[in-house]
Amino acid sequence: KTQSAFVEKKHCNIGTIGHVDHGKTTLTAAITKVLANDGLAKFVSYDEIDRAPEERSRGITINAAHVGYSTKVRHYAHTDCPGHADYIRNMISGASQMDAAILVVAANDGPMPQTREHLLLAKQVGIKYILVYINKADIVDNELLELVEIEMRELLSDFGYDGNTVPMICGSALKALNGDESEFGAPSIRKLLETMDDYVPPIVRDLQSPFLMPIDNAFTVPGRGTVVVGTIKRGVMKRNDEADLIGFGHNIKTTLSDIQIFKKSVTEALAGDNVGVLLRGMKIKSVETGMLLCAAKSFKLSNHYKAKIYFLTRNEGGRKKPIFSKYSQQMFSGTWNIACRIDLDPSLHMMMPGDHGEVYLTLLEGMVMTQGQPFTIRENNVTVATGIITDTLP
Ligand code: GDP
Ligand code: MG
Repeated sequence: KTQSAFVEKKHCNIGTIGHVDHGKTTLTAAITKVLANDGLAKFVSYDEIDRAPEERSRGITINAAHVGYSTKVRHYAHTDCPGHADYIRNMISGASQMDAAILVVAANDGPMPQTREHLLLAKQVGIKYILVYINKADIVDNELLELVEIEMRELLSDFGYDGNTVPMICGSALKALNGDESEFGAPSIRKLLETMDDYVPPIVRDLQSPFLMPIDNAFTVPGRGTVVVGTIKRGVMKRNDEADLIGFGHNIKTTLSDIQIFKKSVTEALAGDNVGVLLRGMKIKSVETGMLLCAAKSFKLSNHYKAKIYFLTRNEGGRKKPIFSKYSQQMFSGTWNIACRIDLDPSLHMMMPGDHGEVYLTLLEGMVMTQGQPFTIRENNVTVATGIITDTLP
């Protein structure tokens, strides 16, 4: 019963990704334009989207526009970033946690370096559903459109998506934005939206596993105690449940004295809910952003993890030099970062930028990381590697 409550919300986080100037912002504006004409959204102009306000997420500055619109089927929160670096930061920091992405590729260029990089990142951060919008169909002939489609299917397969089944829509975002009703104009946008509704299934939250919530924020309510704020990642929280607040080498036992959603007390909250939780006997100074609130005894701290990693090439903004064992840098994951040492597979002497493979991570302090959790490695504020956790080691 609770499960269906989530399906009924029918909300989807989506975003445009792809090479600079391929038409991501034009497409975002065109979607709102077409839906506005059909009475389903408020038109948001190109300039409004491109002037995305600066926001700080997980300690890094990101420019991102969040545009909301609805089809007949569901509501979408759509993220469009102005620059390539903003995408990198947005995606690897999980700032907008896209359920699906629209990969925009200009037909006159075909896939370009940032097309590949965004696709790689999409895979690494766990975006399950990709749709391709082959843009600028107004300035190329049909043969080229077909060629780009073939190239894109191969590229998708190279990155671990099912290239054969990923939907591809050809069109012209610019024509659509200008109200053109010919094939590549507004109809291509309607087709894209219908495909989004069909292809991306309703996101069902995991309500079975023990609850887990990364802490985004914490504050003190005078006379009551410490409240931690976050979005429940999985499971169900009930008032008076026992819990552990865990991370950065600490594991503190506590009890959920009160749970609030939109400032109203509730007896339970489900995965996907944004909540404030009053923790019994908790001191504010014990709480750090990036700790986890989880069901009692459901997780153990560890300093050691196995991971799959990809070192960005120089062109992708990565290192010039090879990577050897004992490579120590700052690791970023979710809402937190920590000093981390990377050791290569013993059979390898070194790895080069552009290489990917299995590595061993040693964190300065014990943390909880789960299988499939994405992270990045940054060197002097530049992302040099992205990875996912594959195993917790004792
Ligand atoms: P972004 O960097 O991916 O967000 O790309 P923009 O949306 O800013 O578009 C880059 C340029 O391509 C702009 O000058 C747009 O007007 C132009 N453009 C976008 N879509 C189309 C299209 O369908 N056809 C043509 N001919 N130009 C387009
Ligand atoms: Mg743009």
